[in-house]
Amino acid sequence: MMYLYNTATHHKDEFKPQNEKQVTMYCCGPTVYNFAHIGNLRTYIFEDLLSRTIRLHYPLKHVMNITDVGHLVSDADSGEDKMEVGAAREGKSAWDIAKFYEQKFWQDYDALHCTRPTVISRATAHIQEMIALVKTLEEKGYTYRTTDGIYYDTSKFDRYDALVGHARIRGLQGGARVEMSDEKRNPTDFALWKFSPKDKKRQMEWDSPWGVGFPGWHIECSAMAMKYLGHTLDIHCGGIDHVTIHHTNEIAQSEAATGEKYVNYWVHGEFLILRSGKMSKSGGTFVTLDVLKEKGYEPLAYRYLCLGAHYRTQLEFSYESMDSATKSLKNLRTLACQAQDEAKGTPVQNEKVQAWKDKFTAAMEDDLNAPKALAVTWEAVRSCDLAAGEKLAFLKFADTILSLDLFKKQEAAACELPAEVAGLLKARAEARGAKDWKKSDELRDAIARLGYVVKDTPQGQQAEKK
Ligand code: AMP
Ligand code: ZN
Repeated sequence: MMYLYNTATHHKDEFKPQNEKQVTMYCCGPTVYNFAHIGNLRTYIFEDLLSRTIRLHYPLKHVMNITDVGHLVSDADSGEDKMEVGAAREGKSAWDIAKFYEQKFWQDYDALHCTRPTVISRATAHIQEMIALVKTLEEKGYTYRTTDGIYYDTSKFDRYDALVGHARIRGLQGGARVEMSDEKRNPTDFALWKFSPKDKKRQMEWDSPWGVGFPGWHIECSAMAMKYLGHTLDIHCGGIDHVTIHHTNEIAQSEAATGEKYVNYWVHGEFLILRSGKMSKSGGTFVTLDVLKEKGYEPLAYRYLCLGAHYRTQLEFSYESMDSATKSLKNLRTLACQAQDEAKGTPVQNEKVQAWKDKFTAAMEDDLNAPKALAVTWEAVRSCDLAAGEKLAFLKFADTILSLDLFKKQEAAACELPAEVAGLLKARAEARGAKDWKKSDELRDAIARLGYVVKDTPQGQQAEKK
């Protein structure tokens, strides 16, 4: 049984999918006008843990959007489109900016071992679906027109404050007031479709029944989520900052349009913060995965750091904590490799191992308690009660969720190469240095006869047990 903290009920609820043959999950994706910072990446790591845990029991359809248009600098529908701001900053087209940062995003995402979504949906490829949804809302009387766009009238939707509750919404109303509020009927009303400015040609704009312009950010997620997952999703995820505005608005749009419940479980991840305060993409104060790599950290050490904190607690980032995550990961891998060596690579499955697996799974199924699952992993690997093959079986399973490459890399270091293999490798390096490819191949065969495969990597030769 799996429990998830549901923002909508303010409660840890038992997870019951609508259809056990396919769980549906939508995760808000990146706005690709700049690099993702490690705070954004923390959210994708938590979503990956959720996806891997669900997949222990059910097939999962996981949809993620790419916001490549229409996300305004301010949450209050004023300011410029973030994509156009990025384009102006870098002297590139808005389309090139989107392409470049999206590709960079996936590099980081993969490096952190986040499982790719089943469907990746770009906002710019779904403009017609968004227009259709706005039309439905218009027909049902939820919209009105101002000089700069088509707006959603939040006073028409009586459950508008359901996700956060009255207190938080009152705070939001204060914060969401904007210059053009004269034309807005309610402070919480938001743009569904924005008109292109009359005096300026936008790079990204489309025809619509209301005039040339571009979609609001919130409508994008509602339109794409429902296109791929139906009117009611099992799970919708995102960072905690999305609760008060983005997700509240998604509910208002979707439920007003369909008359059905939009999401059964709202799951939100807490922020990664800096000692100096908030990590903000638009404010420019952010650390990227590239920065960590330049400083010599492995991306998976960052994953380890994130696993060590529950997703619903704030995590303060520091380089000291990165150092300690790096050390812990190295030690865990060393122990994993020792178990693998001692067991000669043969895992042993039995009831004892199953009990450890169950303990691990129970932690993950208790609202994704990754710190506990990690603690169980350490306990198992140090346990005198488990033989090497049993540890190996457990660790292989745990790593399908933790995904920390527990057996990679360290393998070569922990399993010291026999002197003969090391000698042949050295000779092969010399042969390759002299471009003697024939000899190099002969030496590879000789190494293979001793039971090792040689791989040529950018870091040089690596020999691994076959
Ligand atoms: P964005 O690309 O800004 O739309 O954000 C992508 C995801 O990262 C969203 O789910 C945000 O809620 C989340 N996010 C933004 N800042 C942080 C942070 N400092 N820590 C964790 N998640 C964040
Ligand atoms: Zn979204």
